[in-house]
Amino acid sequence: ARVLCWFRRDLRLSDHAALYHALKSADEVIPVFVFDRDILDVLPGDDRRLPFILACLHELQQALRAHGGELVTAHASAVEALPALAAQWGAEAVFTNRDYEPAAIARDAAVRQRLAAQGVAWFDYKDQVIFECDEVLTQGGKPFSVFTPYKNAWLKKLTPFYLQSYPVERYLPALARLPEQTLPTLDALGFAEAAAQPLKITPGISGAQAALADFQRRLTHYQRLRDFPASKGPSYLSPHLRFGTLSIRLLAQLAWAQGDEGAQTWLNELIWREFYQQILWHHPRVAEHAFKPEYDALAFDNDPELFAAWCEGRTGYPIVDAAMRQLAQTGYMHNRLRMIVASFLVKDLLIDWRWGEAHFARLLLDFDLAANNGGWQWAASTGCDAQPYFRIFNPVSQSEKFDAEGKFIRRYVPELTALDNKAIHAPWLAKRLPEDFRLGRDYPKPIVDHATQRQRALALFGRD
Ligand code: FAD
Repeated sequence: ARVLCWFRRDLRLSDHAALYHALKSADEVIPVFVFDRDILDVLPGDDRRLPFILACLHELQQALRAHGGELVTAHASAVEALPALAAQWGAEAVFTNRDYEPAAIARDAAVRQRLAAQGVAWFDYKDQVIFECDEVLTQGGKPFSVFTPYKNAWLKKLTPFYLQSYPVERYLPALARLPEQTLPTLDALGFAEAAAQPLKITPGISGAQAALADFQRRLTHYQRLRDFPASKGPSYLSPHLRFGTLSIRLLAQLAWAQGDEGAQTWLNELIWREFYQQILWHHPRVAEHAFKPEYDALAFDNDPELFAAWCEGRTGYPIVDAAMRQLAQTGYMHNRLRMIVASFLVKDLLIDWRWGEAHFARLLLDFDLAANNGGWQWAASTGCDAQPYFRIFNPVSQSEKFDAEGKFIRRYVPELTALDNKAIHAPWLAKRLPEDFRLGRDYPKPIVDHATQRQRALALFGRD
């Protein structure tokens, strides 16, 4: 029999659940990828993810060819494309890995229904998480809404079985031998070649492997370095986890086997990823609403000018501006900075967290609905976290603590390079500034006063 293996957020060959099952059960497997117009047509033409995905697909194509296979692509709504591809290639079934986002669940249900009408079977598998949906529940059989007990239950359930990789390589001879297919160009997909800015994070299976090899040397120091944005502390693997150029089983296995403090802390972060995925799966309404219903209709100021200043990195708070410029320039932002700028948007600028969430969703290369929504609701105190709303980040002390020498700030806000290590965190408070530097001309004065806004935020959140 001939079957299709539909690749989505799993752009690799090794340790791939759906591909493994497809290869094992069919004579001929055709790997397919759909440039889904339902997703792409609403993105701006300079979206950085498209060049990244395309580069990943070129590598996937090469890897498949090395084993005699061929990647087939389509540029259409997935709901139309899958039934058409199945008909065109005479496939009896579609194999794929599960995706837990509400829109993906709806899409897959529609595709599956259309395929069934054509007599094409559907098989889906867990692949992008160690534990999915309701695999980790409380003793009473309820979903967890607090991280620490979830993590403890997750770790308790973990056995080597769940970390085993799928030995895809052994079965690759079942890849269908097809005539060479050409991948579409960025241009043909409606995205501008010129806007494909150089990425700091190298795409593809090879980019993922290089980044992982680099991180493995640093994993033991993760706990110590991860909070300092000027240091190379975190893994920078998030886009690879997002697009599945690496297997989560491989990563969790590495962390689990190493087991030192750095590795344990990092495994914790991988568990956060699954925590938010199960929150979204159990409570899909969080995609639009506060997890805590009492915070769903806060009367935010939502000042568009303050929002624009935040987006463009000209709030006058150097750490916030450096972080927002890192996002704009690279499509990545350090986790500590995501927390700082999110708190600043909500608690200092009094802007709805959903505005910030949407801005991140547009720009982050690692954008993931569950993690982004979870992170924003955490920062806004509307989420499932126990942290009370009155613990508000002070952007200046965060800056002094996590970028003490202003190294990160100087990297992204060069107009502040000449300020000393004290003044750089809050230039408006500095007793002495460089002679040729004028606040308000060379760098903005703070657009809000933190102490005032903090009081306003407390009043806003404290009102029932
Ligand atoms: P590492 O520190 O090396 O972590 C390893 C992996 O663990 C990450 O790649 C990620 O998959 C996972 N992880 C780490 N922290 C978290 C977390 N808090 N929640 C869920 N997963 C986590 N992460 C995303 O992958 N996509 C997003 O869209 C996203 N948006 C965020 C928005 C806000 C407001 C906040 C506070 C956090 C967000 N995060 C998001 C979580 C975190 O900031 C990033 O995962 C991390 O910075 C990615 O860098 P890294 O791979 O070097 O991280």
